Amino acid sequence: MKNIAILGSTGSIGTQTLAIVREQKDIKVWALAAGKNIDLLERQIREFAPVLAAVWEEEDAKKLRTKVSDLSVRIVSGMDGMIEVAVFPQAEMLVTAIVGMIGLRPTVAAIRAKKQIALANKETLVTAGHLIMPLAKEYGVSILPVDSEHSAIFQSLNGEVGNRIHKILLTASGGPFRGKTKAQLAKMQVEDALKHPNWSMGKKITIDSATMVNKGLEVMEAKWLFGTQLSDIQVVVQPQSVIHSMVEYEDGSIIAQLGTPDMRLPIQYALYYPKRMPLSGQRLDFYKLGCLTFEQPDLETFDGLKLAYEAARRGGNLPAVFNAANERAVAKFLSRSISFLEITQIIHECMLHCAYIEQPDLTQILETEHVVYEWIESRW
Ligand code: NDP
Repeated sequence: MKNIAILGSTGSIGTQTLAIVREQKDIKVWALAAGKNIDLLERQIREFAPVLAAVWEEEDAKKLRTKVSDLSVRIVSGMDGMIEVAVFPQAEMLVTAIVGMIGLRPTVAAIRAKKQIALANKETLVTAGHLIMPLAKEYGVSILPVDSEHSAIFQSLNGEVGNRIHKILLTASGGPFRGKTKAQLAKMQVEDALKHPNWSMGKKITIDSATMVNKGLEVMEAKWLFGTQLSDIQVVVQPQSVIHSMVEYEDGSIIAQLGTPDMRLPIQYALYYPKRMPLSGQRLDFYKLGCLTFEQPDLETFDGLKLAYEAARRGGNLPAVFNAANERAVAKFLSRSISFLEITQIIHECMLHCAYIEQPDLTQILETEHVVYEWIESRW
């Protein structure tokens, strides 16, 4: 029996994790945490019978306590509640499927409590990779990637211990606006940006795919996860989203992981690593697929990726600035207060204006987020 806890159980990754739990039948879910969707959380509590559940607001926790008063589950709230879920004693693994830098503190707490981490919350490594990776090493904790590209790289590293990575080839679909000009992007609305050609994901990451900021965040995530130099990570646009990423070795050999665009596969791989388990769903049919194509990313039109490389190269708290600015800008775009192109303009201005800290600790990283949010609110 596998024993897990999930942060962000009501989201895209969270619900797909629970779909695997439902299918496999040998995973016990001890604790769940969500934000505001208490109706779905109630259904999840009734189906998966966790002992502990957390929501963000105490008001929502009160409502949820009433809803599940016939059950023995304990309902908690706020950051303390998230942390309680993250370190739940019986769980051996924490799935971090929460969105945003709010995942940082619970993940740190889980590592200190020696929980294995199935990491979807890329913000954790993007903003605090320099703290998280050494901490995980110190506590003997594995960080198992859930992001499909990082899972592909992780799978392409199997059996290659001691062999030097020459290059990581991080694939990108190019998003819904691949091939468009800046002038065309200027007119794009929320509905256009939410139409991802291949993947079904949460709203925030879908917008991040449209700006290609997501690929930038993934470059930073890959740098920390695999201990690679930034210059050894190359983004390759692969519009069919069939090759999920590749590793090139010193002898020129390239190992790739391929499959249909289905997030359940990398989630399940992280849950059962190193074992592969059966998984229902569509299989890749090469006869139907016909061909795979490749392109170079257009860094001038999709400057979010260029800014991400710049933030990663300079390091310090700049990745946190980049990430926080993007989070707030995407929320503003989703609420239709700014245009599509303003997302990366806001990121750029924040990177220029926010004070640089070379070796930020956790508190400084979270303060950076706060400063960025305040600065954006004062201007947009
Ligand atoms: P969603 O927006 O679908 O879900 C986010 C989850 O976080 C929800 O359960 C939400 O709860 C919860 N949440 C948000 N704010 C809070 C809060 N203040 N306190 C507690 N819980 C909160 O996101 P995704 O599932 O798409 O993404 C999750 C993470 O995984 C992100 O970091 C993303 O980059 C990464 N990722 C996602 C992929 C995907 O295919 N979706 C692929 C690879 C990585 P509620 O809805 O109840 O408010």
